[in-house]
Amino acid sequence: MRLLGTRDSTEHVSEPLPPDLYRLRTLQTYLRLQLDAVNTHIEQLEQVRRTKEQHARRSTRQREEAPSTAVPDDGLRWWRFAPDRSGRGGGTLHRGDCHSGAGALLSLAEARAILAEGARPCQNCRPEDRLRQ
Ligand SMILES: [Zn+2]
Repeated sequence: MRLLGTRDSTEHVSEPLPPDLYRLRTLQTYLRLQLDAVNTHIEQLEQVRRTKEQHARRSTRQREEAPSTAVPDDGLRWWRFAPDRSGRGGGTLHRGDCHSGAGALLSLAEARAILAEGARPCQNCRPEDRLRQ
């Protein structure tokens, strides 16, 4: 049993810590080095995050500044609608790279819409296969 007045005023904090000054200074140095390492790591991760954010902002800006009338580069993303010569509104939908395709280039949404309105898919290039993807 402890007698009143025998408790050291620092006992509550010193209990898990070494009791002597030498080991406390050693621990202090160790913790300072650990804190430096943690701070350095935090700075590195923050730098990585800032770099990623800059890249994301840059590519967003580049996408926004890209011309809206993009040049079609393949038949996988572009379609053509060739109206029937009868003039009764029907026609054939082709992939952009189809040899028998003619007419204005269409976007994916336009091609889907025109197919939904009853355009025939070309039997050679089968544009509907790409539209489903
Ligand atoms: Zn075709």
